[in-house]
This record gives sequence, structure tokens and C-alpha cells, in this order.
Amino acid sequence: MLYSVQKKPKHSIVVKKNTLGMVIPDGNHALSPMHMSPESCAIVTKLQKSGFDAFFVGGCVRDALLGFKPKDFDVATNANPKEIKLLFNRARIIGRRFQIVHVQINRAIVEVTTFRSNQKCHSSDNLRHQSKTGMLTRDNLFGSIKDDANRRDLSINALYYNPTDNTIHDFLGSLSDIKKNLIRIVGDPTIRFKEDPVRLLRVVRFSTKLDFEIATKTAAPMCRLAKTLQQISAPRLFEECLKLFLNGHASENYKLLDKYNFMSYLMPCIAKHAVGEDRAKRLISKLLSNTDQRVRYGKPVTPAFTFATMLWPAVQKESIKHIQSGKSAYMAQRHAADAVISKQIKIIAIPRRYTVAMKEIWQLQSFLQKKDRAARLIGNLRFRAAYDLLLLREDSGESLGGAGMWWTKYQELHPQDRQTKFKTKKVISSSISRRRKYVLPKIESDF
Ligand code: ATP
Ligand code: MG
Repeated sequence: MLYSVQKKPKHSIVVKKNTLGMVIPDGNHALSPMHMSPESCAIVTKLQKSGFDAFFVGGCVRDALLGFKPKDFDVATNANPKEIKLLFNRARIIGRRFQIVHVQINRAIVEVTTFRSNQKCHSSDNLRHQSKTGMLTRDNLFGSIKDDANRRDLSINALYYNPTDNTIHDFLGSLSDIKKNLIRIVGDPTIRFKEDPVRLLRVVRFSTKLDFEIATKTAAPMCRLAKTLQQISAPRLFEECLKLFLNGHASENYKLLDKYNFMSYLMPCIAKHAVGEDRAKRLISKLLSNTDQRVRYGKPVTPAFTFATMLWPAVQKESIKHIQSGKSAYMAQRHAADAVISKQIKIIAIPRRYTVAMKEIWQLQSFLQKKDRAARLIGNLRFRAAYDLLLLREDSGESLGGAGMWWTKYQELHPQDRQTKFKTKKVISSSISRRRKYVLPKIESDF
């Protein structure tokens, strides 16, 4: 049987024949140690030379097979975290719920995990624990490589690659799913989603990133389980949302998040708008396609701008309520901004450095609409983001008296003003001094 893998190949890889069942031997696939980083190869080799089994697993095997450059390298082994730590000079055990070891070689950090088991744990030492809703609150029950494959989220993330003998180990028909461009959750979808609702978001993310279809059985319970997203911790949801909205596939991700009703739980104030207000929908759709384009061109994208734009319609709606209760427009917007942010960060823990910037971007909207004190505003640290939001608002059909065009012309006529590092005290927080390029952080995965 021929496994051909057809995604945008950087190095075209074809798995030719699965002669030995689940082990695809050297020569029958096109992976080679060259696809993995030298540091991670050194870690695998050292573990193996010390008598342990060790494999590359997860995203790096999947991506290399599909012709993408792996983002990071995950190693799985039968050595337990303490044994791993003892082997390497610079190794740190992290995580409680799910212990992994970060091994550092040169400047590279590689995640090394011990094979886990999905079996029910009857022992009293609480290695694997599930809450009443089925959510895994502890997952440190070790097992065999096959157990480990079964506890992974998606079949395409459960391939094991041994660079020493150049074999791929496929326990779950993962290569066949790759060939069929299929996202399939490992095991019973409902149980596995309930164990860790983040998997719902991962299904969406990998389906758009790889342009794979979601298997019917995997998709079936997704809408119904949308409410389980509420169980995910706010910091973890923040990291997941960054991956969903700043990875270059935000538009498609948003469509699927909406389709499965996930937005109602991630950003309830947006979901309400999206149903009733076409303009808000257009604003978000234009934002996300612009963001995707920027990512494609390697331009910087910032979480502050993304969240500020997504939540802007909610701020406007909330402001109207405050104006109706007699507040000035300025105070109404301040109260609205606080209210929208404080509700949102309970669900998605947007860090303060971003929420401060978001408030500044919102506050600048009315200044930009008034078009006065242009020379001062244009030197403002948040001017560019606020101007971009202004343009998007107009683009999505809001009538702002031609403010966007006015500012575009003003900048053309006064290019020198951009250089002025003038800071408007009211709007600028002194703690934030640079507009930073946002790079997706390497976060510790819980699983
Ligand atoms: P990428 O790093 O490109 O986003 P990845 O698949 O490597 O993709 P990681 O978050 O680095 O994603 O996780 C590494 C591997 O750990 C995954 O490929 C998968 O096998 C497993 N994994 C990650 N998250 C979960 C989860 N929530 N449940 C079960 N297994 C998971
Ligand atoms: Mg990874």
C-alpha cells in the first residue's frame, strides 16, 4: 500500500510500504534524522544509550511527514522524569498535573515526556485522577509506548519515530489518517473531549492548519460539548486563543469556532454580537483575514490589537448603556472598557500588559474621530493600532465622517510627525514603552 503525503512539501516524503504492520522500516518512508534538530537527536541518542526507549513523537513527526518544518521537538521515553533528569545536566521537571522534563542543550529546550497510560488508576498514590465531569486533573500514570499512543489527542499526533534505526511506529492507523487528510480523536470522542476540553480547540486548530477534514465521529459530539470549554483554566485558554487567532489561520478557525458554538463560551460578548449585528461580524471577519495576511507576510501581529478589535463592538454596546444612564461619552466608554475586560479575563486570562494597551486603543478612537491635536496623537505609542482599528471600523460599514481617510492623508502630508515620540499622558501607560512583535511563546503543554 502506498502512503503518499501531499501537503505543501518542503521535502517531499512518501511512506511506501507498511510491510511490518505497525513498524515502517528504514527505506519505506522518507523521514530521516535530518528532519529533527541535532539537539533533540542528541537527547534521544543519550536516552537510548542509557538503556531506555526513546522516540520523537507528536507534532514534529506529523509536520516532517507533511513537509512542514517542525515547530518544536517532543521526545517520548520509558524513562521516568527522575531518571531523565539524572541523565542530563540541564534538565528541569515541570508540571504537577502532567509532569514533563525540559532538557536544555545549547539554547534549545526539548520536552521529554514519559510514556503515559490512559488506564483507570486504582492505586492510592493518585497518579491519574479525574474529576466528576470526567476531566483529567492528574495524568502521571506511566505505561507502555502503546498506552502512550492511546492517550494522545489525535491519531496524527501519535506517530513515533526512532532516528537511530529510522523506523516509524504506528499503533493507531495514523499514517492512513494522514493519507486521508483526516483529523480523528483517539478513542471515544466524548470521553476524550471530556477528559480535556482543550482537545476541542486542538481539533479545530489542526484541521485548519493542515487543511484536514474532521472525522464524522470526532465532530459529532463537538457542539454538544462546547460548554465543557468553561472548565479550561483562563491562562490555558489564553495560550490556546493565541494559537487560534495569531497562527495565520484565524479566519478559518473563527468559522469553525462559531460553527461548533465555541465562541459563545470563549467570548460570550462577541457571540451575541455575531448573531445580531452584521457590522460586528464584518469587523471581526476583516480583522482576522488581515491578521492572516500579516502572518503570511511575516509582519508583526499583536494580541492586544486582535482582542481590542474583537471586543470593540461589545465596548460600543456597553458604552451606549452607560450614556443612556447619564454618563458622559468619555466616562461611558471607560466604564464599558472596564466591564468588558473584567468579564472577558475571567474566561481568557489576557495579561494586563495587553488589556492596558487595549483600553488605550479604544480610548484613542474618539480622539481620532475628532481629528484634533493630530500632531500629538500621531506620535502616540498606540496611534498605529488605533488608526488600524479606525480603518477596520470604516471598512466594515461604520460611518465615521471620513476619519480614516483624513488620517491617511494627514500621515502622507506630515511624515515627520510619526517620528515625534510624544506621549499623551492620559492615554499612555508609562510601563509600556515599546510596540513589540508578538512571537507565540513556547508554553508548557499540560498533556
Ligand atoms: P504544535 O507544537 O505544532 O502546535 P503538537 O502536536 O506538537 O503541535 P504540542 O502541544 O507540542 O502540539 O503537543 C505535543 C504532543 O502532545 C501532541 O502532538 C500530542 O501527541 C500530545 N498532546 C498535546 N496536547 C494534548 C492533549 N490535550 N491531550 C492529549 N495529547 C496531547
Ligand atoms: Mg509540539
